[in-house]
Amino acid sequence: MPETSREIRLASRPTGEPTSANFSVVDVPVGEPGPGQILVRNAWLSVDPYMRGRMNDAKSYVPPFELGQPLQGGAVGEVVASNAAHVPLGATVLHPLGWREYAVVDAASARVVDTAIAPAQAYLGALGMVGLTAYAGLKRVAPVKEGDVVFVSGAAGAVGIIAARVAKHLGAAKVIGSAGGPLKAKRLEAEFGYDAAIDYKAGDLDGQLALAAPDGVDVYFDNVGGDHLRAAIDAMNRDGRVAVCGAISAYNATTPPPGPDNLHQLIGKRLTLRGFIVGDHQDLAAEYAQLAAGWLRDGSLQYEETVVDGIDNTVDAFLGMLRGANTGKMLIRLTARD
Ligand code: NAP
Repeated sequence: MPETSREIRLASRPTGEPTSANFSVVDVPVGEPGPGQILVRNAWLSVDPYMRGRMNDAKSYVPPFELGQPLQGGAVGEVVASNAAHVPLGATVLHPLGWREYAVVDAASARVVDTAIAPAQAYLGALGMVGLTAYAGLKRVAPVKEGDVVFVSGAAGAVGIIAARVAKHLGAAKVIGSAGGPLKAKRLEAEFGYDAAIDYKAGDLDGQLALAAPDGVDVYFDNVGGDHLRAAIDAMNRDGRVAVCGAISAYNATTPPPGPDNLHQLIGKRLTLRGFIVGDHQDLAAEYAQLAAGWLRDGSLQYEETVVDGIDNTVDAFLGMLRGANTGKMLIRLTARD
């Protein structure tokens, strides 16, 4: 057991796109777990788009990260000391204190995960918050019906790849994905279960969507906002549903981006646009976990990971994810120090 643990702190609040100067890596003593606590050696860290919002000093559904304090985020790791009877030494746990090598965690906020079902890091992706986001969005927020045409933006990302699989399981006849660049677009169709792919970086998003969805779109799963939302509204069929999951095209904006200029179509087309936060849909977690375990077993829930090694590369992984360096879930893998 090393005496110190490295952790990543928010050194200053970013304006626009964050840079490595907004973060610091600090050595701190490895903590001692108190009553009801566990010490976890983190093995995998998650970096997620919502963390960008927490770097702003702004009111939101989660409090801002504090300056000079370690960042937080999903992590899985091994319990190396335990003062909690129900969490044994050696267990693999999912918990919210990532961005550091060792974490003292309240056992009540940790969950022992079953690595017989899937590798530990899958609980940061397909079997965790990411998977439940896709499921809640398409099962409840913008329910997919048998035969629907479904459009997913951010299609080659963590949530997007699972959304395509979930849409098919819920009966979608056609799933169209949009991602940045020809390689990602190719992989959408070849590997990630999409029936048609759009490379939004090639331009003419409206034209590409019209070509991919000649009969219109029934459900849009929006990870991006901006031009994607506007194009989707144009393409929606009557009684169409939109799950507004994220708006990553605006996360680094320094002035409010303009809204879609075609909202009047909501009226004639009787559209529903509904925003959601995955945390409000925890009641679906057990149902999704059971379905996902079965889909993993039968091979119909394939997922993708981009793995970056080492705590010192966590910031670069986060910044890269915001720019599209990832395909599937962006993860940081930590190995035990001698
Ligand atoms: P992700 O898609 O794995 O990673 C982010 C992706 O965003 C990048 O790979 C990049 O892909 C894309 N991107 C970046 N800038 C873009 C732009 N200007 N236009 C279009 N695409 C852009 O991340 P994720 O974890 O799966 O999250 C996806 C979305 O879901 C995010 O908006 C996130 O905030 C949201 N989310 C919401 C909830 C909720 O509870 N509502 C929960 C989880 C996630 P390209 O290379 O294709 O550009």
